[in-house]
Amino acid sequence: MSDCIFCKIARGEISSRKVYEDDELFAFHDINPVAPVHFMLIPRLHVASLMEADSGHTALLGRMLLLAPKLAKEQGLDNGFRIVINTGKGGGQEVFHLHIHIIGGGHIPPMVRRS
Ligand code: 5GP
Ligand code: ZN
Repeated sequence: MSDCIFCKIARGEISSRKVYEDDELFAFHDINPVAPVHFMLIPRLHVASLMEADSGHTALLGRMLLLAPKLAKEQGLDNGFRIVINTGKGGGQEVFHLHIHIIGGGHIPPMVRRS
């Protein structure tokens, strides 16, 4: 997708603080972090969201999930991290190129609070 911001980041047309790259995947720090460590892992392939993923993406999604803990550890998150995949407008997704947020360091509050 020529006008997709994350495609442009993966192609190096928009600068980012790179965490990792290979022929299929790219990871970079979030421009507006919500925690001391906050980076995103994306496929180079443009897939708009998890709702557009299908069985043809099984290996790609598996690679992303298995790479995430390795990158998290390299970023100093020895004690764990949170993964978030905002999906669709109803899931709060703002950039429509599938991405995994990897978040950690400091205090990570419970995801869901029950009062
Ligand atoms: P979403 O809400 O779609 O799951 O998250 C999109 C994320 O992309 C946000 O956390 C936002 O800060 C980040 N973001 C948006 N534009 C850019 C950019 O140009 N560079 C970087 N590094 N992050 C971006
Ligand atoms: Zn894209």
